[in-house]
Amino acid sequence: MAATDLERFSSAEPEPRSLSLGGHVGFDSLPDQLVSKSVTQGFSFNILCVGETGIGKSTLMNTLFNTTFETEEASHHEECVRLRPQTYDLQESNVQLKLTIVDAVGFGDQINKDESYRPIVDYIDAQFENYLQEELKIRRSLFDYHDTRIHVCLYFITPTGHSLKSLDLVTMKKLDSKVNIIPIIAKADTISKSELHKFKIKIMGELVSNGVQIYQFPTDDEAVAEINAVMNAHLPFAVVGSTEEVKVGNKLVRARQYPWGVVQVENENHCDFVKLREMLIRVNMEDLREQTHSRHYELYRRCKLEEMGFQDSDGDSQPFSLQETYEAKRKEFLSELQRKEEEMRQMFVNKVKETELELKEKERELHEKFEHLKRLHQEEKRKVEEKRRELEEETNAFNRRKAAVEALQSQALHATSQQPLRKDKDKKNRSDIGVQQSGMSLSSSKVMMTKASVEPLNCSSWWPAIQCCSCLVRDATWREGFL
Ligand code: GDP
Repeated sequence: MAATDLERFSSAEPEPRSLSLGGHVGFDSLPDQLVSKSVTQGFSFNILCVGETGIGKSTLMNTLFNTTFETEEASHHEECVRLRPQTYDLQESNVQLKLTIVDAVGFGDQINKDESYRPIVDYIDAQFENYLQEELKIRRSLFDYHDTRIHVCLYFITPTGHSLKSLDLVTMKKLDSKVNIIPIIAKADTISKSELHKFKIKIMGELVSNGVQIYQFPTDDEAVAEINAVMNAHLPFAVVGSTEEVKVGNKLVRARQYPWGVVQVENENHCDFVKLREMLIRVNMEDLREQTHSRHYELYRRCKLEEMGFQDSDGDSQPFSLQETYEAKRKEFLSELQRKEEEMRQMFVNKVKETELELKEKERELHEKFEHLKRLHQEEKRKVEEKRRELEEETNAFNRRKAAVEALQSQALHATSQQPLRKDKDKKNRSDIGVQQSGMSLSSSKVMMTKASVEPLNCSSWWPAIQCCSCLVRDATWREGFL
């Protein structure tokens, strides 16, 4: 066969062969088998509700699933955003649904909202990681694995009528590659129809200009293409939630009653609640699940495996070897570990050196201080010693003076006791003998003083007793002679 014929043969699309009904093979029942298997297995669907506290998230969930989920009321005083998942088993006809509603508690309540998106992103990644770990197990049990990956994020926008808050834009931008986002305007009954229309246009414009990718209802399936295309144009849905039933005409409907009228939740002229329910649950629930698996989870898985060193081989190169990748990664990891160890060792050595230097400096300072104190102490000691010597000298001088005075005193007393006997005689010859007595006293005092080697004292206190001694002291001639 010629080469061109071969190419034509292999590239030609073979026509599907229709089997005749007469000889029924049976694989046309495959969809029924799938349905039956899925129904037996049950479904899981996980919704993440992001919006400020009190915006109507819980009410809308109750309204959507026509039941009352027990949720504790969130306060406005949460320190940070916290994800609260709650799982409910629901049944409609014979279909079981494991529904998980995850509430971003405390979202928008903090003063600093810079990191408000992070717990949400982390939660979504954690669910992907759990699934990946299950997939990587040697013994996997994906069949009965409770898949907690988030299939849709309902983003509740506050009905301000103005524009999106920066928190909304930042959060949606961070989430759009990880989850299917459906934006909804909450409490739509608080905004007028014309304002709502403008608000919707503004929101869509802002999302486009900031590059935020929201979920688009798929238009590739003919059966739903038309309705989905129409609904895409209605985004973001403006919804009203209520579990209250109000009598309208002769029917009980879910509505919110006001003094001026009734807002019916399921009336498409009043809000987009029905559109949301149709799109979310009745038409696109499976697409949301599929998009989660094939787009968002796939992206997470690819990045994670690449990070771990796995790669796909292209046609020309050698097939990818897990063993080689493992070895290469191990080597890389070990060298990284060694580098870190070396870094830490170096850091430790530097720290020790620094500390050593500091200690040496401190020791030197202490030594200097000690030397200074020692000098001061010696100086002080010398001064005290000098003082002591002076005091000793003073004490000695005093003692000598005291001895001299005592000697003089006793001499004077002796002289006084001799006086009455010679009184008359003395009176008579006072002037002559005076000179003689003075001469005697002077000589004896002088002897005593010389003996004591001290200056004569002023003896005023014991004047009467040592009159003659005092006279001698006052006598300048005697003093000069004495000294
Ligand atoms: P969550 O904290 O976001 O879960 O908010 P809730 O669902 O607890 O609702 C907070 C308050 O808003 C409740 O009093 C609800 O009755 C009210 N609410 C809920 N949905 C709507 C709505 O669509 N319109 C109006 N006007 N009020 C609503």
